[in-house]
Amino acid sequence: MAKSFSSAIYLDANATEPLRPEAREATMAALEQGGNPSSVHAVGRAARALLEDARKCVARFADRSAECCVFTSGGTEADTLAIHALGHSIGRQVLIGATEHDAVRKAAPEAGIVPVDEQGIVKLDVLRTMLDQVPSALVCIMAANNETGVCAPLEDVAAICREKGALLHIDAVQSAGRLCLSQEAMAGASIALSGHKLGGPKGAGALLLPDDAPLSPLLPGGGQERGRRGGTPALPAIMGMAAALEASQTQDWDKIAQWRDDVQQRAQDVEAEIVAANVTRLPNTLNLILPGVSSQTQLMMLDLEGFCVSSGSACSSGKVSASHVLQAMGFREQAGQALRISLPWNVTEEEVVAFAEAYQRMAKRLKK
Ligand code: PLP
Repeated sequence: MAKSFSSAIYLDANATEPLRPEAREATMAALEQGGNPSSVHAVGRAARALLEDARKCVARFADRSAECCVFTSGGTEADTLAIHALGHSIGRQVLIGATEHDAVRKAAPEAGIVPVDEQGIVKLDVLRTMLDQVPSALVCIMAANNETGVCAPLEDVAAICREKGALLHIDAVQSAGRLCLSQEAMAGASIALSGHKLGGPKGAGALLLPDDAPLSPLLPGGGQERGRRGGTPALPAIMGMAAALEASQTQDWDKIAQWRDDVQQRAQDVEAEIVAANVTRLPNTLNLILPGVSSQTQLMMLDLEGFCVSSGSACSSGKVSASHVLQAMGFREQAGQALRISLPWNVTEEEVVAFAEAYQRMAKRLKK
């Protein structure tokens, strides 16, 4: 299939995945179908049927009934709705991991911060102690980090939350479609998803709730989504998200992980430091530090060679400030010298090899 991005080699999937053909097809079908799912006439009912099919498909991600799925505009809204509805609006204190995405950090500025170790893994003993003080807290932990790919020990986190009587919210925006989360980890948790990180179009996300209970919406509006999220649902984007989620289940992630490891080896050969090399990471993600060289310089040099990579999360890459994720892991000036490579679903071996060679050329030139 033709690449969705210009002639540049796109290795920034964690910012957004290229649109999958299945998602394009489903999106176009919904655009052509038209109608508002809230309308009672035939066209509205047809749109409603598509929406409810998509809901069943997305809810299956966590083996939940369709009523547990609330469609949102994306991951940020899903995280914010969880923190509002399951935390602040009912007076529940919020604890978040130190490396959470800004979607969570900015929604809970007063939250207690659970530290991570030097590999980016949340400190379980500290979580346990914090929950002794606030046992009924809402605990927000990301399944996988967007900058480093580090996967959380979610089953352990979930067990501690259950033991202490806390609620768990999982930001699965980066892991969904790329990594299986166990039922043990997800049981009783709320889960945030984002369509464009799966290879769907931008503009749709979902919050999977533990049950179908009413909650205090962020957007009351016209009472759509069973009163839990007002506003006309973005049906084309939602259909695209559901199709992308399904398509991602058949992706050969082992092959992508192998290519990622090849780049990692070649980067090590030119003395790059690999972030969190010894823990489980997303199969497509690699975070490299080139000591003494700013992220911005690396980004510009690789951009000139035709490679799209990132210094961290998409939201912060416009300003290229030192990463809070790496700082939380104990990096100091090196937190401003990192590069994130995130391989998209449609990457080719030739592209990966071309990048590894360009990275090595850059590192050798800068060393001179
Ligand atoms: N959570 C994580 C871990 C992310 O990486 C992102 C986006 O980068 C978000 C939430 C926000 O998702 P969205 O862009 O759909 O609002």
